[in-house]
Amino acid sequence: SEPVLEIRNLDVDYGLGDRAVHAVRDVSLTLHRGEVLGLAGESGSGKSTLAYGLTRLLPPPGVITGGQVIYHPEKDSPYDVLALSDRKLREFRWAETAIVFQGAMNSLNPVHKISTQLTDVLRAHDPAMSEHSRNARAREMLKLVGISPDRMDAYPHQLSGGMRQRVMIGMALILQPQVVIMDEPTTALDVVMQRQILGQLIELRERLGFSVIFITHDLSLLVEFSNRIAIMYGGRIVEEAPASTIYRNALHPYSEGLLGSFPALRGPKRELAGIPGSPPDLAGMPSGCSFHPRCPKAFDPCPTTVPVLGPPADANAAGRTVACWLHPALENR
Ligand code: ATP
Ligand code: MG
Repeated sequence: SEPVLEIRNLDVDYGLGDRAVHAVRDVSLTLHRGEVLGLAGESGSGKSTLAYGLTRLLPPPGVITGGQVIYHPEKDSPYDVLALSDRKLREFRWAETAIVFQGAMNSLNPVHKISTQLTDVLRAHDPAMSEHSRNARAREMLKLVGISPDRMDAYPHQLSGGMRQRVMIGMALILQPQVVIMDEPTTALDVVMQRQILGQLIELRERLGFSVIFITHDLSLLVEFSNRIAIMYGGRIVEEAPASTIYRNALHPYSEGLLGSFPALRGPKRELAGIPGSPPDLAGMPSGCSFHPRCPKAFDPCPTTVPVLGPPADANAAGRTVACWLHPALENR
């Protein structure tokens, strides 16, 4: 289907000049209408930086040093989010692309009723909307995320963590954005709750037709719930493919490692036992493929030359890309 968001060669640094660390490097990704794109990778691989970057919510000293984020609105012509004025950007953030951050459930304002927090979003976006319509809309949204409207007047502390998270999802969806980004929205919740909330989001997506970028370390959730998966390492995408393809046949040894440390679908979580060593230090990034020091299959070209991300020449390349010398892309040759 058609693209809704195209990230092109995005680079994000923290800091300037010699001190800069490159947290996101040359990332290109396309999100299609109605799909769920999963983004996985160990802690520090740049997942949140990518999400903040593409919505221009980077905290200082984060700076976007290159690339484009092309947004395709349903009716108007495409534009580059990175070139928007501040005013347009504010509109874009709520109405076109909404983001639910890591630990978002704790970012509800403790002194306001949840109804007020929901209707505030509507008021800010459309001051002309009547109070009656705002309340009706907020009520409908809560119902949609599985919260009984008689909890409208509750304060955040009167709700469970899972319910607060659902309120945040309701806030993200209330202006019917085309894209919803969830950045590890479920880490603080138990596994049963994670599944429920994700399942519910997918169901809402089917009804409302938005696209989702879902960010997590939990590959089991991604395999179950996403259409495609992109895997990040050291700020780069190292592999991208349909979820079932990665699950059956991961090409990058890092992806294999992540899958090897796949926690059981039910049961206790394990450490990333599949991959020895630790994620790279951005300040002293290894040369060549940055995974090579940890890679059990590294060979001659790996320490010296960065492999290009592209369709692998040696495998069934339909709809998949990888950046690995074991499966060189045509462009690498
Ligand atoms: P996690 O799974 O732990 O959320 P992540 O993949 O989201 O990790 P990021 O938070 O995007 O990773 O961080 C990417 C890199 O950027 C890390 O090396 C991190 O140390 C660095 N970084 C993040 N925020 C800042 C900051 N404000 N200043 C400097 N460096 C930062
Ligand atoms: Mg993160």
